[in-house]
Amino acid sequence: MKTIFKPDYDKAERKAYYLLQLAGVKKFPIKLNKLIRQFSNLKLRKYTWFAKKWSMSVEEVCNLTKSNEGCCWYIKDNDQYMILYNDTVDNPGRIRWTIAHELGHYMLKHNEITNRSIFARNSLTEDEYEVFEKEANCFARNLLAPNVVLRELKPDSPHFISDMCNVSYEASTHIYNFLIEGVRRGIFYSKNHPSIKLFKDYIWKKRHSHMCSNCNSTFVKENPTYCPICGNNSITKGEGFEMLYSEIELLESHQAKKCPRCTNELILGSYCHVCGIYLINKCTGYEPGETEYNYNSSRVYWHSNDKGCGELLEGDARFCPKCGSTSTFYEDEILKDWEEEKKEKEELDKLLS
Ligand SMILES: [Zn+2]
Ligand SMILES: [Zn+2]
Ligand SMILES: [Zn+2]
Ligand SMILES: [Zn+2]
Repeated sequence: MKTIFKPDYDKAERKAYYLLQLAGVKKFPIKLNKLIRQFSNLKLRKYTWFAKKWSMSVEEVCNLTKSNEGCCWYIKDNDQYMILYNDTVDNPGRIRWTIAHELGHYMLKHNEITNRSIFARNSLTEDEYEVFEKEANCFARNLLAPNVVLRELKPDSPHFISDMCNVSYEASTHIYNFLIEGVRRGIFYSKNHPSIKLFKDYIWKKRHSHMCSNCNSTFVKENPTYCPICGNNSITKGEGFEMLYSEIELLESHQAKKCPRCTNELILGSYCHVCGIYLINKCTGYEPGETEYNYNSSRVYWHSNDKGCGELLEGDARFCPKCGSTSTFYEDEILKDWEEEKKEKEELDKLLS
């Protein structure tokens, strides 16, 4: 009687999720090194490393491992595993897929099940080999780009997936089509899926990301009206700009973690007890230049100032995204004017290029 093997996709998906949770991964792109470090009997090595060690050419390593991409090698005697990957492939996304795929063979114990030191096509029957390959690919996909998380983010093209998850365009096209097919066929997924829980914060950020075409900043805010960096209202949904403006690290309470002016690290109240600066970034209710005009000779005590809309602001906000007023950090010159900062950065880039 012939045994019929079928790929166990559920198991592959569960193992991928298990590994993400084990390593505490909560955002894209997935850091594969961090996953591999979870196991003391697993090592990651390059083909060029192997070639040098055994005085071989990379081509000879490909012949030995029977793969141009990579392999999962099991040394049964001391229960050690080594994932070898071809680092001469000049597509980082493809290399990442290979490593994730080989990690799948490791997690699903394919070498042990088949009793093979190297898991390769011609060492097994074609059927067996295909089943294990399918499982390893399913694992890789759920590790690098979990289907349920992508569905929450509603990607509009394969580019979105390749940029976010750092996989090749070829792989992301495949993932994208798979996703669309699932939606089309009305395949249900639970909002309580463990991967969605794991990526909850990431999904929220991604959904509420906005960009400003005036100052080239990307920021996270639910329904903003104004850009927190420049105060302009030319904002659209999405992320697209690299330019980062300086920011002050804040505590949950929106107070600075340490004093941004004198660097005193002991935060006792709303004002720094060493230099006297106000440590909370919030909406002031003023327009740029207005305080200098009105309060030329005396300072404004921000704790008792109730002109603003009351919004507590992020560490890089020069403006209130709700009403467009200035922020306390901007008024106190803790945060530089965006135009000034942009100019400085461009000048520095020119010097360094
Ligand atoms: Zn494989
Ligand atoms: Zn802006
Ligand atoms: Zn201070
Ligand atoms: Zn405001």
